[in-house]
Amino acid sequence: MPHIQCLPPHVADLIAAGEVVERPASVVKELVENAIDAGSSAIVVEIQNGGMTYIRVSDNGCGIAYDQLPTAFLRHATSKLRTANDLSAIGTLGFRGEALAAIAAVSRVDIFSRAEGSTAGGSLHIEGGAAEDVTETGAPQGTTICVRDLFYNTPARMKFMKKDSAESAAISGVVQHLALSHPHISFKLIRDGQESLHTPGDGQLYSAIYAAMGRDFALSLLPIEGRGGEVEVKGFITKPLNCHGSRGKQVLFVNGRFVKSQLLTAALEEAYKNQMMKGKFPGCVLHVTLPPEMVDVNVHPAKTVVKFVSDKAVFDAVYYTVLDTLNGEKRPVKEEKPQQQSFYRSMTAEEFRAKSAAETKKPLGSYTTAQRSTPVSAPAPKPAPTPAPKSAPVRPAAEPIFVRDVAEKGKPFTYTAGTTRYEITPPKAEEVKQETLPLPAVETPVPVEVQETMLPKEAPWRMVGEVLKTYIICEDEQENVWLIDKHAAHERLRFDALKAADHPVMSQPLLTPLTVSLEAESYAAAVENLDTLERFGFVCEDFGSGTLLIREISTEVRLEDAAATVEELSQKLATGRADPAAARDELLHTMACKSAIKAGMTTDAKELQALVEKVQAGEILYCPHGRPVKHKLSKYEIEKLFKRA
Ligand code: ADP
Ligand code: MG
Repeated sequence: MPHIQCLPPHVADLIAAGEVVERPASVVKELVENAIDAGSSAIVVEIQNGGMTYIRVSDNGCGIAYDQLPTAFLRHATSKLRTANDLSAIGTLGFRGEALAAIAAVSRVDIFSRAEGSTAGGSLHIEGGAAEDVTETGAPQGTTICVRDLFYNTPARMKFMKKDSAESAAISGVVQHLALSHPHISFKLIRDGQESLHTPGDGQLYSAIYAAMGRDFALSLLPIEGRGGEVEVKGFITKPLNCHGSRGKQVLFVNGRFVKSQLLTAALEEAYKNQMMKGKFPGCVLHVTLPPEMVDVNVHPAKTVVKFVSDKAVFDAVYYTVLDTLNGEKRPVKEEKPQQQSFYRSMTAEEFRAKSAAETKKPLGSYTTAQRSTPVSAPAPKPAPTPAPKSAPVRPAAEPIFVRDVAEKGKPFTYTAGTTRYEITPPKAEEVKQETLPLPAVETPVPVEVQETMLPKEAPWRMVGEVLKTYIICEDEQENVWLIDKHAAHERLRFDALKAADHPVMSQPLLTPLTVSLEAESYAAAVENLDTLERFGFVCEDFGSGTLLIREISTEVRLEDAAATVEELSQKLATGRADPAAARDELLHTMACKSAIKAGMTTDAKELQALVEKVQAGEILYCPHGRPVKHKLSKYEIEKLFKRA
């Protein structure tokens, strides 16, 4: 008969310690979180040998009173939680009162601390959980805890440790995440004598990202902010073109705590669909904030899992905030030219045209280099807003070649994401046309109301021509040369239009039906999905033996492309994604690709002009597969090619 008895305290402590302290990174996390809870504004972490032999965390927080030093190391000793009710309203990072006891049970600890308002500091040495007496020492305000020889008394645990470099990387990750969730605190990490991270603690998330994740990453980011109900989403996401080969640069926080969450990752990535190349992943530093009662607080604080009361509310808040930001990115990108800004007054293209038309009697919209070189003496004051005369001349619209392509500005249309239908109100013309160019100053005030007319039809750029029957060349007023991939740009335009349309694609009957023979799987899928093909404008019949008869084709595609389009659609029906919205997108990709003007094809200059207008207005940035549609060559880059610069 086994005899039941209580464990000796030091054995119980060792077992408990195993749960809190898994590896050096967990020690760092607990110590730094304590420092944060103590109200520090600067925290320094030093490690040696991946933290196995030495971890030191110093802070300038409230400190621990001399006589309380031994208490802090007792199990379940905490200053952060008094009653059971406090559990649900917990605002600090630690609250179980276990960390210091656990760390001290499996290492050799020295602590130095001086409490706020006290003149004398104290120090204490604890080894394997056994504390010596507190001694009085001089110390700066705050706390320094030094942990040596981790797991020296638990050889079994020691065996599980990875190489120093892996432990060191894990510690860097912990410090990085804590720095990103506390931008108002300056963090420094010193690894084997070398500073590897140092954030300024200026309260700006962007500064923390710049310091903790590097310049290149920081420069690839777009700010993001939004909310869905009680869920607030804030932070930075990478631009679609800067996406990464892995998810390693996705950093997510929920109520300030670093988490790993498939739900949040899925919401983020879903919003990038159609803007990002396959196999790429967006990076982000996202803070999701929601009322504490909407998150499960009983999840172990040392773990990074998170449970939400409403997954859908959280998914939607993140998805739509990211989507809105990415769509906003399509607006004209303002070129940062600070030194010019101070000399030139920013003026909208509309203002500029009105002014130059009045001055030079040139046709509206044209520009010459002479205008650019107008000498400027001083910045002109911003004109007072004067209402524009209702009869202000409106220039005739350009050839409406691509009118069918664009959802009417300002008019809402529906959009389906996953199983959710979403009403989208496209930015109004005045929101879109905010591109301000550094242009010469004017003395006479220009009526501001003029800005609220339509998007400038003739932006300050000039189409030079087309090369290789594929790339349109333009130059703009800032002496940049633009190369535009005409197929990619038009494909995007077609894709957006097809996606926004909520009616089936129109079809036209053929005098002589076409036949297309398909490979077995595609054929089976096509025959099973004749109604889907019809919704895309292709009325087909099963002609037997792997052949389809096409009686009507979509008005979107050329006759010579019809058979190939049906073949590709059938292929996608056979192999496509299970999610109906994703599957629809795949089919739309085919439609957009086939209906777009092609590389190598001769295109009417007016058609190119209309396309460039859309691209230069910032409405198109990536083709539906995520490839860029335009590339800028600055004058400087060209001059460098010719060794002029
Ligand atoms: P918990 O953080 O869950 O309360 P810990 O064992 O981590 O438990 O710490 C015990 C107590 O020691 C804390 O509640 C706090 O009062 C005190 N303490 C620990 N580290 C610090 C620090 N760096 N500065 C001030 N007080 C600290
Ligand atoms: Mg703690």
